[in-house]
Amino acid sequence: MVPFSHENMMTVACSSRENGKNTRAFCQVGCIGCGLCVKQSETFVVEDNLARVDYAKYEPSGQNEAAYNKCPTGVVVYRGKSAPEPREPKARQPAADKA
Ligand code: SF4
Repeated sequence: MVPFSHENMMTVACSSRENGKNTRAFCQVGCIGCGLCVKQSETFVVEDNLARVDYAKYEPSGQNEAAYNKCPTGVVVYRGKSAPEPREPKARQPAADKA
């Protein structure tokens, strides 16, 4: 349950604790536990391959917005009255040609 203290709040819309490779095999939008969100904001925590928001620390901030924007799968989403639509996952880079 997300304790709504702001009109719109971020959440990690995933509950899978599979490692990133397994998650990617079955789901393009799941949390892969990469930790990019944690590097941007102390509000995010990764445990057992799954990120979550520490709502005791949550405030709208540039750091949280950076975490939202850096997430490669788009699993960080806003929820609330005027929440924006979820983003598309970043396109995977094609494998380099083997010459
Ligand atoms: S950046 Fe996205 S995919 Fe990576 S750990 Fe954070 S929420 Fe999960």
